[in-house]
Amino acid sequence: MTTTDSSPDTRWMAVVGRDAKADFVFGVSSTGVYCRPGCPARTPIRDRVRFFDDAESARSAGFRACRRCRPDGPGSNLSAVEHTRELLDRSPESGGMKGLAAQVGLSPSQLQRRFKTAFGVSPTEYARALRTRRARAALTAGTSVTEALYDAGFGSSRAFYEVVPAALGMTPTQFRGGGAGVEIRYSVFESFLGPLLVGVTNRGVCAVKMGEGELELEDQLRGDFPWAQLTRDDAGLGEVRQAALSLAAGRSGQPELPLDVHGTMFQWLVWRHIQRIPRGRTKTYGQLAGELGRPTAARAVARACATNQVALLIPCHRVVPAAGGEGGYRWGTDRKRRLLEAEAQAEGT
Ligand SMILES: [Zn+2]
Repeated sequence: MTTTDSSPDTRWMAVVGRDAKADFVFGVSSTGVYCRPGCPARTPIRDRVRFFDDAESARSAGFRACRRCRPDGPGSNLSAVEHTRELLDRSPESGGMKGLAAQVGLSPSQLQRRFKTAFGVSPTEYARALRTRRARAALTAGTSVTEALYDAGFGSSRAFYEVVPAALGMTPTQFRGGGAGVEIRYSVFESFLGPLLVGVTNRGVCAVKMGEGELELEDQLRGDFPWAQLTRDDAGLGEVRQAALSLAAGRSGQPELPLDVHGTMFQWLVWRHIQRIPRGRTKTYGQLAGELGRPTAARAVARACATNQVALLIPCHRVVPAAGGEGGYRWGTDRKRRLLEAEAQAEGT
């Protein structure tokens, strides 16, 4: 735990990462406004940022308080949902809804509803994602699995294994090993959109890719999972193939397949929201960012789309630019356009 490091670099990282727990404020010389590090407004240019230990010092240097993040108020002046998020950020294990609601002065059902409206997930989901992210960060840094779990607020390794694989993809040890020890079975076949590859682990679908041919698709898969054992299994993946074929043609995918994907908490939230966009409809990057409570994060949403590992199952093709047109697509703009047309047609009939 390093909370006392107040070097400009560390503080700048907190601003960029919108770290609501960081205990300082920053002023922006071009606007004359000072903010908390967790402020949802656009990230300023570093050259224009000055750091202060507290609001008092920022004020005496001539800055005025931001109206969005209210750096002049005590923690209790935050809205109840922001306050809840701060409490969870500080200790994601403080999960009980009743206790949280009492601390912020709402009923459990009010808190549940408002939090979900603001951030797109329930407080429980938020806390779980946070614990997952912390465990992942600790694992990537090389901490032992057990230490990582306790540091991240999981009371036991059983509690961790119960919730994490769904979001983390592989088990923690496998994740640290870059997918080593994971068997991925895959199949390549022709679809409405050209050659398509699906890959599954024993936990769920980990890859859906589109490309020009078999070799290229196998290369893509190898690039994403350098240490995994890849086995071609056209016969064994009938159900997944069927679902992917149907989705590629703009129709419903029938069964909801379990996914085995991994990303940061933000990516994970974006992907979940994308899965709720109905077939035949689109949302803009900005709309999605707004729904996630981060109205200025449209570009981060676009990046999360660009890193989607399972085309079609997480339908990132339904996210488009506000300016019009279909926008970018990891698997080719042309495929995105055809897919949207096919979906619109299937819905219309
Ligand atoms: Zn602000």
